[in-house]
Amino acid sequence: MRAVIAVLPGDGVGAEVTTEAVRVLEAIAAAYGHEFEFREALIGGAAIDAGADPLPEATLELCRQSDAVLLGAVGGPKWSDPEADVRPEQGLLAMRKELGLFANLRPVVPHPELCTASPIKAELLRNVDIIVVRELTGGIYFGDKTQTNTTASDLCSYTTDEIERVVRVACRLAQKRRGRLTSVDKANVLATGRLWRITVDRVVREEFPDLSLEHLLVDAAAMHLLSRPADFDVIVTENMFGDILTDEASMLAGSMGLLPSASLGADGPGVYEPIHGSAPDIAGKGIANPYAAILSTAMLLRHSLNLNDEAVAVETAVAEAIDTGARTPDLCADSASAMSTRDVGTAVVSRIEHTRHALRA
Ligand code: NAD
Repeated sequence: MRAVIAVLPGDGVGAEVTTEAVRVLEAIAAAYGHEFEFREALIGGAAIDAGADPLPEATLELCRQSDAVLLGAVGGPKWSDPEADVRPEQGLLAMRKELGLFANLRPVVPHPELCTASPIKAELLRNVDIIVVRELTGGIYFGDKTQTNTTASDLCSYTTDEIERVVRVACRLAQKRRGRLTSVDKANVLATGRLWRITVDRVVREEFPDLSLEHLLVDAAAMHLLSRPADFDVIVTENMFGDILTDEASMLAGSMGLLPSASLGADGPGVYEPIHGSAPDIAGKGIANPYAAILSTAMLLRHSLNLNDEAVAVETAVAEAIDTGARTPDLCADSASAMSTRDVGTAVVSRIEHTRHALRA
């Protein structure tokens, strides 16, 4: 297969982890006989520094012409002045809106060897396999904003169309998994929460009656995610609740550096990125964990290029690399045994190259 992949490293550790993700995709292309063309462009603070918008028109155009987009992370202290008119995060929000990326998929599957890296008790982590589907282009992050010196407001609004389309994505995933959907809202207090709940009930009843459906208020969900994580299969929720709950869920896996994500629209390219930010505290040190970015390539292969065997090959290579101790400092109790970003990338690439030899044998 031939595919064009836009690569947007962004800021901080974004460039370090996407470099390893691209090496992994190159290894997959070589192993399975594909031709991937990588085209790089600016986004976020790097674009602002180059004198452009946080999402330059040329970057958006490249994304539109590509089969998929691989993103690092944006932001950092250099651009975090709350008085500034232009901020790196605007680039991300604009890209989500322009590409119509309304569904954000975030799988959380703790690796058995890393249970000790999680602050949660190991016995609670057994059999945890969750995918959170977060609505990405509506809600309070996109509503009208007002601000004076003494008052501020952010509008939270949703339409039934916006709710239905993301719920359908979650339902289809649940059908292919364990058939359980948990919908998270704040229906006891918010009008948007009540519309959310009524709409989820209707979509599941009319279109996916085979699924089991549970509703949770977001405050209870935050607690249940830690007290009974293995009970969840697919969780669907609105934009801000999804943002917060997925960071919480990342602690089940042990590190922000382990969790990938996919942002999908009705058509057009999907955007694949680690859930972590630009990690300014460790940027430039060569110690950022590249697994979240590498696992994002598995989601890219599966969801945008329909290459499931290749996606599984990446996931298997990552699991084996972790098993054999290829770990950055965030995953090591003892820093003496920690590896660099590059060496962890090499550990994954060499496993994929093994697959290549096996495929040719
Ligand atoms: P962060 O995710 O960058 O970092 C939180 C903590 O996790 C830090 O201690 C960091 O060192 C650690 N961490 C993150 N990624 C890691 C990795 N790959 N390997 C090892 N450790 C890792 O969140 P933050 O500190 O709140 O934000 C920093 C900047 O990133 C801010 O400007 C924020 O706006 C931005 N941000 C961007 C995105 C994105 O681009 N999607 C997401 C979140 C935050």
